[in-house]
Amino acid sequence: MNNNSAVCRKCRGAGEKLFLKGSKCRTAKCPIEKRGTTPGQHGKKPTMRKLSEYGKQLGEKQKVKLMYRVLERQFRRFFKHASKLKGATGENLLSLLERRLDNVVFRLKMSFSREQARQFIIHGHISVNGKRVTSPSFIVKEGDVITLSETTLKNDAFVKGVVDKRMNIGIRLPEWLELDKKERKGTVLRLPVRTDVTTPIEERLIVELYSK
Ligand code: SF4
Repeated sequence: MNNNSAVCRKCRGAGEKLFLKGSKCRTAKCPIEKRGTTPGQHGKKPTMRKLSEYGKQLGEKQKVKLMYRVLERQFRRFFKHASKLKGATGENLLSLLERRLDNVVFRLKMSFSREQARQFIIHGHISVNGKRVTSPSFIVKEGDVITLSETTLKNDAFVKGVVDKRMNIGIRLPEWLELDKKERKGTVLRLPVRTDVTTPIEERLIVELYSK
């Protein structure tokens, strides 16, 4: 099995698209689009699987962790933080995950995947409010301005070959973000709310799991 199919297998295991591979995810080449199956010899339909309530809760948590590229320890930290905020914990959790800088860079169409966004940030290509930020888990707030760092902007091959290429694909930008394509600059207009997350997620299952 090559590395590519190993990544896609995670989506097939979750029974839905987690957008882990970037450009391929939005094409007919995506195995979920082609077959709509879960891993296994005969590839049963996801809806046919019978899972216990605990299995569903674990599966949902795993799906969200994979989607946002977060490891268990950090996920728990996010959950704890979410539970201390006003409002529903599950919704707060999704809002916090959406506000991660790697997710924001991906949503702003500056990278082809969250994994690539993560690499851009670690390698110092991204600035927030004019200051370089190298932590993918940095949480943005309302009014923050996300740009490519000055040295990165001078790298024509990178800017045109990666950033501009993706920005010009017709993917809808979430309403909580604004993008200035010419300046390659994004602004956080407001904090994300539950309806901004369009991937099907049953966050109540995660809350139930951690409430045991
Ligand atoms: Fe592979 Fe992307 Fe499709 Fe997932 S969404 S199966 S990562 S192509």
